[in-house]
Amino acid sequence: STTVEPFRLAIIGSGPAGFYTAYRFMKNNEHAKVDMYESLPVPYGLVRFGVAPDHAEVKNCREKFEEVAASPDFTFIGNVTVGASSDHPDGATVPLSSILRHYHAVVFSYGSSEDRKLGIPGEELKGVFSAREFVGWYNGLPEYADLNPDLSLGAHGDTLIIGNGNVAMDVARILLKSPEELARTDIAAHALDALSKSKTHNIRIIGRRGPIQAAFTTKELRALYKLPGVEVRPYELEHPTAYDALPPPIKRRTELLSKGSSLPPNPSNPYPSVTFDFCLSPLEFDHKPEQPSSTPPNWVTSATFGKTVLQNPNQHHPSTDYETNNHREYYNQKATARLPPQPKTVTFNTRYVFKSIGYKSTPLPEFSLLGIPFNTSTGVIPNDGIGRVLTKLHRPHQLPSSSHPAHHQPHIELPHHFKGLYCSGWVKRGPQGVIAETMMDAFTTADAITEDLTKREKFLPEGEWGQDGKGWEAVKAEALKGNSNARVVSWEDWKAIDRAEIERGQKAGTGKEREKFVRREDMLAVLGD
Ligand code: FAD
Repeated sequence: STTVEPFRLAIIGSGPAGFYTAYRFMKNNEHAKVDMYESLPVPYGLVRFGVAPDHAEVKNCREKFEEVAASPDFTFIGNVTVGASSDHPDGATVPLSSILRHYHAVVFSYGSSEDRKLGIPGEELKGVFSAREFVGWYNGLPEYADLNPDLSLGAHGDTLIIGNGNVAMDVARILLKSPEELARTDIAAHALDALSKSKTHNIRIIGRRGPIQAAFTTKELRALYKLPGVEVRPYELEHPTAYDALPPPIKRRTELLSKGSSLPPNPSNPYPSVTFDFCLSPLEFDHKPEQPSSTPPNWVTSATFGKTVLQNPNQHHPSTDYETNNHREYYNQKATARLPPQPKTVTFNTRYVFKSIGYKSTPLPEFSLLGIPFNTSTGVIPNDGIGRVLTKLHRPHQLPSSSHPAHHQPHIELPHHFKGLYCSGWVKRGPQGVIAETMMDAFTTADAITEDLTKREKFLPEGEWGQDGKGWEAVKAEALKGNSNARVVSWEDWKAIDRAEIERGQKAGTGKEREKFVRREDMLAVLGD
């Protein structure tokens, strides 16, 4: 009898995109083998390092991922970074070229590992944090284990959160939630300690666009209202007349915003508060030494914002009559915000600024060498909207949108794509969307691989990148040779780390779900040699 070589798929990244791609692909291709590479010793990407500790129910997707990992056709390869020249002192690194040689197809689902920058003066001052580092720190991401933010400086003005998405709401909620409640979650111990000394009691959440265009959901807004003893100040709409014309979900959110939370008056001991500001864009952060000084050197003391104007993105020559523009676009959900040449400005006293303006993906170090394109302006791997990686950058309007698969749009000619290269998740669509959207997106990619597999013609061509389908065993022999420091973490190993974390949580005695290891070496120490 002849044995048929199994189809071997490499997936780079173990977040929701990687796992849902694996799940869907394995479900439809019984004999296929999937190897998943993950640079950290622990799986799940932003489910572990992004999702807020008090959103335990969101993390239930881990159960599905565990099922995937239990399959004999699945191999987890943790503590191994894909990309030759990345700075990765503790774990192992394997070059992408080696992976391309030994798989039939490769899926990039490595997410977004950088922050967007504002690019304004003072951004490097102490006390100015990116949401990515702050969230990473409270969730125990090894990269930020030493962030050590001092949240205990006395109250000087408000704590500012710049950005208007659900991540901004997470940051606000974690800053205001009681330490007793946080102590029951999987928040990192160092964060619980710092937060219990925090003086960040009055928070401003500041968006560039208006209340109608805000990106956060009503659900996350409600979660702020539910914080006991926290006052959400009512936001007064500037143009309340067209209110009823709003689509119901936006109307509900706007109603909630304008109502505020009604707590009994308490003038002697004011409540911690949340205030919403809209149509403000940050211009600069400043440090002014004071006498006597209670603020460390190079620590932010104020932030200045410019008043933005709303405009219709489809209007090529918007009028410079800003007042009229603002009024007209106030209820246009698609309106964008722009700083006029001489904006009105406002300055807030502050000691803490959290920039929650988005994550950013970057190309793997070998992309340019291997001729794989990356769109640095949108921060995504150029793809056909379905998940196939394109051979060169194409302008977005040439691409079919993901909601209409290409074969339903016969008049759009598909650009060339790489045989055997796919992408899914945030590195495919950009850093936005909840896990459910990432899942749908990963399914689309997995189905494209299945479709191409049935045609059998579109995989890494022999010769060029030399597919031999030998997978991890061959990559290991080739790339990890002589690298004795590299402790590769298997799924069994991860389960040992997982158990140790849950046990540490139990020892805390507060009903703590788990106590994460926040350093790579401590994760690996559980495994011995
Ligand atoms: P990621 O989850 O980032 O996974 C990428 C993985 O690839 C990581 O594990 C990374 O370590 C690994 N990797 C990176 N580079 C390499 C490399 N070179 N080699 C090997 N591995 C590599 N969604 C919800 O539904 N509910 C929420 O409450 C929620 N809260 C969120 C809070 C925050 C702060 C953030 C940022 C996002 C939140 N989301 C939430 C969105 C959700 O996390 C994303 O939709 C989802 O995680 C994106 O999945 P991904 O797999 O594309 O990326």
